[in-house]
Amino acid sequence: MQLAAYLFDHRRFVGVVDSDGQHVTPLDLPQGVAATGVLSVIELLAKGAALPVASGQAVPLASVQLLAPLPHPRRNLWCVGRNYHAHAKELQTSVFKDNDANPESWPIVFTKVPECVVGPYDQVTLPGAAISEQIDYEAELAVVIGKGGKNISRASAMDHVFGYTIVNDVTARDVQMRHQQWDMGKSFDTFCPMGPWIVTADQLDGTRTRVRCWVNGELRQDGPTENLIFEIPTLIETISRGITLYPGDVIATGTPAGVGLGMTPPRFLSSGDVVRVEIDGIGAIENKFA
Ligand code: MG
Repeated sequence: MQLAAYLFDHRRFVGVVDSDGQHVTPLDLPQGVAATGVLSVIELLAKGAALPVASGQAVPLASVQLLAPLPHPRRNLWCVGRNYHAHAKELQTSVFKDNDANPESWPIVFTKVPECVVGPYDQVTLPGAAISEQIDYEAELAVVIGKGGKNISRASAMDHVFGYTIVNDVTARDVQMRHQQWDMGKSFDTFCPMGPWIVTADQLDGTRTRVRCWVNGELRQDGPTENLIFEIPTLIETISRGITLYPGDVIATGTPAGVGLGMTPPRFLSSGDVVRVEIDGIGAIENKFA
């Protein structure tokens, strides 16, 4: 099932994308509830309720404005740094130069504030040269938690996955490297395009899919999630150690090699650039930077 949040006729809806991929059918949710996007459905299901019934006519996807499936996540998004071997290598002399001797024993985890989330085709705002001149993209598979929990074991971790979506973990590299923690350089307004919908875990094996990213049509990143250093069950086990995960929590699993900072010389984004992120089994998001 693909669950989307969208605007149609000036109202917010949550709906199921039809199997033809061309239409979306709204679910019967009160307006105020639909405003939280797919989070409303995830929370209902986590409480043991049934999926709300479809109501009304299917409408063409082309006639709606897709929103981020979680337009305002319930709290900061969990994110994982240097989680593909080739990406860790390309940044070993820059972002990760201060890592300890055995950086692969535990994942790097940071967060992005929920307010930086924007829709799958929304514009990303460059902050201006006085604030950052090193804006970069990071194509990522994001895990959406269904059933919450604490101290979740690797063995049961996948039972807690509701589904998957796409994020671009947009990053101000100079700000990321200036501060000891990454949250600031990762949390600028509009720095987390998300979507185009959530694909439920029964339809996609997130441990075996492919993440790709194009900048102005040029393929920059192409990585299978089989190459994750810390795979999804390990991430869930690690992040839930002593911390309760809640339905709707998001874990962005890290980005493959090919970011702008990793190029020689580095190639950062500028106004007018268009970044497209595609993940097999989910779809694509595409955002103009301005
Ligand atoms: Mg990232």
